Amino acid sequence: ENNIIEIRDLSIEFKLRSGTIRAVDHVSLDIPKGKVTALVGESGSGKSTLASAILNIVSAPGTIKNGSIFLNGEDILRYNANRLRHYRWSDVSMVFQAAQNALNPVMRIGEQMIETVLAHKKMGKPEIIEKASQLLDYVRLEPGRVLKAYPHELSGGMKQRVMIAFSLLLDPQLVILDEPTTALDVITQDYIFDILLKVHKEMNITMLLLSHDISVVARVADRIGVMYAGKIVELGETFEMFENAKHPYTAGLIQAAPSILDDVSENKSIKGSSPNLLNLPTGCAFHPRCEFSTDLCKLEQPRAISVGKDRLAACHLNEKGEMLA
Ligand code: SF4
Ligand code: MG
Repeated sequence: ENNIIEIRDLSIEFKLRSGTIRAVDHVSLDIPKGKVTALVGESGSGKSTLASAILNIVSAPGTIKNGSIFLNGEDILRYNANRLRHYRWSDVSMVFQAAQNALNPVMRIGEQMIETVLAHKKMGKPEIIEKASQLLDYVRLEPGRVLKAYPHELSGGMKQRVMIAFSLLLDPQLVILDEPTTALDVITQDYIFDILLKVHKEMNITMLLLSHDISVVARVADRIGVMYAGKIVELGETFEMFENAKHPYTAGLIQAAPSILDDVSENKSIKGSSPNLLNLPTGCAFHPRCEFSTDLCKLEQPRAISVGKDRLAACHLNEKGEMLA
């Protein structure tokens, strides 16, 4: 088996005062070993909820309604508390959105790294410091200075790199990064992605990146899953997706993405607004925003079908063989 994680038919619901929303709707996804997979979609599309399920930390008012998540063949949703504690950080770690703010402001970085490791396994402090120093060096931080620093002494980009080093402390098989560069300026963003690419290539770390910006993740992701209203509407290799999107929403995201080659005035944003999960459109949830929408689209939800090698898309155009150019 070449997949670290296999998600099968996963649905997650949230009971809110105003009704029940399905944040993740019958999602199946493989995370292949040694690759960078990205999930792209607007905020509210279900990416972070899906990632929290991979760590098995979905909590009230959210519930996993059905489905399984396998780590090398074992269903992690059935793990006991002990196995779960090991699973988180040692098998799969996550850098949460705005994770820099999760650093303890009154503890030095080094002490926090020691504490994190000791919460999960027995290891001598000098050994931990050595490992932490290697990792900090890896993310191009000065270990001697950063281990002794308090979070407020570091810039946003430095704190984000510290969080990446944290996520690697226990040698996980998979690291999930939720909007790893969103709060940072463009130059720092690029720098962080260079580092992630280096970590991926040289340490052979499998990654799952979550982002609202397809152009930002395209630089590092081997494969992209596009999410809309809780579903993966297109999945494929990054290059092929940019060459020939098979779903109008993907095509729209790519067109709206800024590119250094384009004239900015030519970027077209996708019309309309993100769907209201409490009151989803009938049929294809994207139909009110789709220029190809037909009567069938308003009535019937498109199924995800194979549209090429390792490629899936859920759009009626593909069923009729009317691939998008
Ligand atoms: Fe557009 Fe119809 Fe395809 Fe949905 S199914 S994306 S509405 S063409
Ligand atoms: Mg999110």
